[in-house]
Amino acid sequence: MSLSPEQREYLQALGIEVWLPRDHPLFAGGGAEKGGRAASKPGLVPSARPEAPQVRPEATPARPEVPPVPAPSSWEALQAAVAGCRRCGLHQGRTQTVFGVGKVDADWMLIGEAPGAEEDRRGEPFVGRAGKLLDSMLRAVGLSREQVFIANILKCRPPNNRDPKPEEVAACEDYLAQQIRAVQPKLILALGRVAAQNLLKTETPIGKMRGNRYRWGDPAVPVVVTYHPAYLLRAPREKRKSWQDLQLAMKTYKEAAQ
Ligand code: URA
Repeated sequence: MSLSPEQREYLQALGIEVWLPRDHPLFAGGGAEKGGRAASKPGLVPSARPEAPQVRPEATPARPEVPPVPAPSSWEALQAAVAGCRRCGLHQGRTQTVFGVGKVDADWMLIGEAPGAEEDRRGEPFVGRAGKLLDSMLRAVGLSREQVFIANILKCRPPNNRDPKPEEVAACEDYLAQQIRAVQPKLILALGRVAAQNLLKTETPIGKMRGNRYRWGDPAVPVVVTYHPAYLLRAPREKRKSWQDLQLAMKTYKEAAQ
């Protein structure tokens, strides 16, 4: 299968010409759209992740202790719990929480950092310029926003878009874990350093994490790391690497979905 117009458009935007043979494994076996959801999710077979490094335990930062969020009885209960959350100080400055958006049984889950000003106003993740680039990145792998689920490490906007504090991440992380367990994605794409480091509980720099495959949870969900779209807007030369990351994500997804 050759590249679709959307994929070509993204690659042209990146200034990359890619010529893949028709039988290239990246595009073998159809597009990324799925049919029905399998009753049980396959894990990665060991041979499918030879390059996956372990996240080194000594790199794990200290986590503040916070009481766990009770397991929700339903997706709606989880949404309501997030909407009313006061587990950290960020609730004081928010217009509203940003729960996440997309397909609740999506195969791909994208995880960003935290809502910005526009997301705080609209209650939806990635609605600004970075969101438009994210949409193009999704189109490049044959996906739309409606086909994936997009969430953030934090559900509330940090003031002046500062980095999340450890206690804010700790207060919010059960919500994200519950979202991931409910969606049961076959692939998680971590967008940017803050998302990757907090999701995988590591301080490894993003430049070292890219190109590897990680796992989250039990049963394990494969995780691929790429740059945050807002960073790509500031550093367009790095878009070439983000295309490599998307190719790894697609390959990882195809292997996990087999
Ligand atoms: N950046 C993020 O990480 N998440 C959003 O929702 C918006 C911008």
